[in-house]
Amino acid sequence: MKPKPEFEWPDTLDIPALMAAGWHPFPFREFIVKIHSRCDLSCDYCYMYEMADQSWRQQPRRMSADIAERTASRIGEHARAHHIPSIVLILHGGEPLLAGQDLIWDLVTATRKAAGENVQVDVRVQTNGVGLDDSFLRLFCELGIRVGVSLDGALEAHDRHRRFASGRGSYSAVSAGISRLRQEQFRHLFAGLLCTIDLRNEPVETYEALASFNPPKIDFLLPHGTWDAPPPGRHPESPDTPYGDWLTAVFDHWYHAPHIGVRLFEEIMQLIWDGTSSGEAVGLSPARMVVIETDGSIEQVDTLKAVYHGASTTGLHVTRDQLDAALLLPGVAARQIGAKALASQCRACPIHQICGGGMYAHRYRSGTGFANPSVYCPDLMRLIDHIHQTMRADVSARLRRKSL
Ligand code: SF4
Repeated sequence: MKPKPEFEWPDTLDIPALMAAGWHPFPFREFIVKIHSRCDLSCDYCYMYEMADQSWRQQPRRMSADIAERTASRIGEHARAHHIPSIVLILHGGEPLLAGQDLIWDLVTATRKAAGENVQVDVRVQTNGVGLDDSFLRLFCELGIRVGVSLDGALEAHDRHRRFASGRGSYSAVSAGISRLRQEQFRHLFAGLLCTIDLRNEPVETYEALASFNPPKIDFLLPHGTWDAPPPGRHPESPDTPYGDWLTAVFDHWYHAPHIGVRLFEEIMQLIWDGTSSGEAVGLSPARMVVIETDGSIEQVDTLKAVYHGASTTGLHVTRDQLDAALLLPGVAARQIGAKALASQCRACPIHQICGGGMYAHRYRSGTGFANPSVYCPDLMRLIDHIHQTMRADVSARLRRKSL
């Protein structure tokens, strides 16, 4: 279990000085609630269970009714205090469906009640899809809960990592769950598919396997890793761009028939177009999410669990603390201050407004903390440059056609 070294960036971030200079924290809008802290799959790349942080071992398996009530009340309090018109409640785990229908019902209804009628509460669940049966889908329909499912491609690609503890692959169970989600009466609940990239999987085949389920959105996720513990196939000091090449191949296939949204590509295109972004994978928009753990601990974004043991902890708890208390923590502020949080190498980079230094967790190196370029830097450059060139060529061709 890797401990945190003393004093690394952003521990030294001077929040009072930032505020004196006019910066104010952005209130949270996305509330990721871990309602169950175990999973019925044993995926070997899981950042919750297989990487640096092992705090799940101390977590209760399931959020208690009391903690769910306190969580709902804290979320409602935060939304009302900051006059936020709409928030997103994300039911997460482990595997959230294992928490059972009663807890989901209670948490969602209590959060909507606590938020009050002036706050719209959109609810999503991110599931491995194994337990997605009609009774859950009826519940989600009743509560208006949209469903994201993790799927890594076709059978071989998916079962490479996403297996039961017995070693049996989960593809057939997951694809059956997605098919149930796509039934006429539930189809509107389908939020999208989340695919973690494995370089061994052929990129266009992977995209087509996901697209065959006709999801409204596909999210490609780079495997989590840091400079200390690099992702598979990514050699930190190497200029090679295996992930950039993989994603570029998918982009070229997708770009000329983009009937399904691919969040990463759309975000990069939007950033190139007008500089705005909504996620934390790219761009410099303030990150506005907070995590509530199964035991009620208030935590930073959970991808930090890939970094070192305790990287996401704040010492705050829903029974004692308002969510506002988390807004002034250096680790939270660092994800809200845009280019000021970037390493000098990133600030000097011509595409830093688009790249944003990559995902926060991927910048970590012991000693300098999060003040580093992403471990995926060459890949991000390759992909962003390729998308930029493609868009530019496309616009030029269109202008030429118009002027003929
Ligand atoms: S991670 Fe690399 S590509 Fe991204 S802003 Fe930093 S230097 Fe530029």
